[in-house]
Amino acid sequence: MSRRRKIYEGKAKILYEGPEPGTLIQYFKDDATAFNAEKKAVLDGKGVLNNRISEFMMTRLGAVSIPNHFIKRLNMREQLIRKVEIIPLEVIVRNVAAGSMSKRLGIEEGETLPRAIVEFCYKKDELGDPLVSEEHIAAFGWASPQELDDMISLSLRVNDFMSGLFAGVGIRLVDFKIEFGRHFEGDMMRTILADEISPDSCRLWDLETNEKLDKDRFRRDMGGVTEAYAEVARRLGIIKENAQGADVLDFSPGSK
Ligand code: UDP
Repeated sequence: MSRRRKIYEGKAKILYEGPEPGTLIQYFKDDATAFNAEKKAVLDGKGVLNNRISEFMMTRLGAVSIPNHFIKRLNMREQLIRKVEIIPLEVIVRNVAAGSMSKRLGIEEGETLPRAIVEFCYKKDELGDPLVSEEHIAAFGWASPQELDDMISLSLRVNDFMSGLFAGVGIRLVDFKIEFGRHFEGDMMRTILADEISPDSCRLWDLETNEKLDKDRFRRDMGGVTEAYAEVARRLGIIKENAQGADVLDFSPGSK
């Protein structure tokens, strides 16, 4: 097998050159990090689950005309994606107070917000991805006014769609982080959803019990991290209802 060229390695994923121009292969690792990589672990099977969950979300979002980078899943850990130039912002959408917003504003975790709130963080690991305002984004040119508009309206559509989808399987979408990229098609450039959507980047609480089914289990040393991700996959119908233990991760190539 020919050796592929690695384009980028992040905390949880690796990007390789794709088979065609304009494509990349996104590889999902089992590595978990939190608090700007101060806390690290390897969680067996996390990458496999996130590959499947992100495939599911991107496919569903594509079906409601939310443009995104996903082309197809290649195997247990890899998906073929469109190459984009990542806009250096993390877009966070919140429905319920939690995490850094609760700390910053003194709002108790779990309090429903008056409406969905969109926040931006500047992607800069050395600075710990600081919260920034639209003024900063405009003044420093991190995104054009058109891109900012596109990111806000797409993020709110993603939030509405995913909130409904998760509510249908008994999960509250508390908040999530997404990233966007510039996709070039000939002379055209458009803003599309990129990166991943998985329990690494969303807060997902059981609607009835408030049990956490996301990366906070890792951040807060609660244990059962991959089990919670598998539960999300099971509820979404991605893995078999009765799958237990190793079977959970036994995704045969033909299985859907
Ligand atoms: N988030 C993320 N990557 C980051 C920071 C946040 O995926 O680098 C997600 C996080 O999982 C949560 C949402 O964005 O779903 C809001 O995170 P918050 O600002 O509360 O930060 P945290 O408390 O996780 O540090």
